Amino acid sequence: MHYEGNIIRPPSEADSILLQVTVGCSHNHCTFCGTYKGERFRVKDEPTIMADIAYAAKHCQSQTRLFLCDGDAMTIPQDRLLRILVEINHQLPWVTRIGTYANAKNLQSKSQVDLEALNTHGLGIVYLGLESGDDETLLMVDKRVDSAAIIEQCLKVRQAGIKLSITVILGLAGPERSHIHAQRTGAVLSVIDPEYVGALSLMLIPGTPMYADWKQGTFSLQGPKEMLAELRTMIAHTYLSGGLFTANHASNYLPIKAHLPGEKETALKLIDMALQDDLPLKPEWLRAL
Ligand code: SF4
Repeated sequence: MHYEGNIIRPPSEADSILLQVTVGCSHNHCTFCGTYKGERFRVKDEPTIMADIAYAAKHCQSQTRLFLCDGDAMTIPQDRLLRILVEINHQLPWVTRIGTYANAKNLQSKSQVDLEALNTHGLGIVYLGLESGDDETLLMVDKRVDSAAIIEQCLKVRQAGIKLSITVILGLAGPERSHIHAQRTGAVLSVIDPEYVGALSLMLIPGTPMYADWKQGTFSLQGPKEMLAELRTMIAHTYLSGGLFTANHASNYLPIKAHLPGEKETALKLIDMALQDDLPLKPEWLRAL
């Protein structure tokens, strides 16, 4: 396979065939993100992608899922993206689900009909970083999109029959705005009503603008209890019709996995126990991104 740069995929795609169709992220401005720093975004050329599909057809016959890397497969023009999916279907007929990252901006370039066609050709799940439902926080982290635009694009994805997995970040708004960030994020998640929500806890990456702000004292990092309290508020304000809310990423202090609405109260009780020191939290040295 022709891999270039950092290859990132969601934890749930650990066993998937990783087909790199773009390099980097077309946005690359989020102040907390160091994933693709220094990498210039581009779509990989079609012969390379097709050669990788042919390679996977020979060497990846036991993997039934495929993930389109890197950050921005949805920026690929619709006809080219469809050609890639058609080739995957043709050469890897055992693949039952194709996944990709997306963001509100690149989803804006796809119509409802486009998304439905991608779903028909195997695109089964989209992973999207909401990060926060609070517009002031989105502005602060340079997401360059507001919650209304994110909601609109996420609803398009859902209407197209594509599953949606959304990431939010605990601690992103800092201590002063923590409660608003948690409440508004819960409210936005409730409108979108995705199949999966994953909450990460902010870890500052050297070289990012947010790390520099922290070093200069203009951004404060919350402690474990503050992040947990934020998680509690977020879950309390999240009303899903049947989604899975997880906070079991390696960055989190307390693993939580709750099907909403049924397991909401249990999750809140677990967090309360941890806040009252009746449950141990993950030590700092065990956390990772
Ligand atoms: S968080 Fe996502 S959209 Fe933002 S810069 Fe990083 S990869 Fe790009």
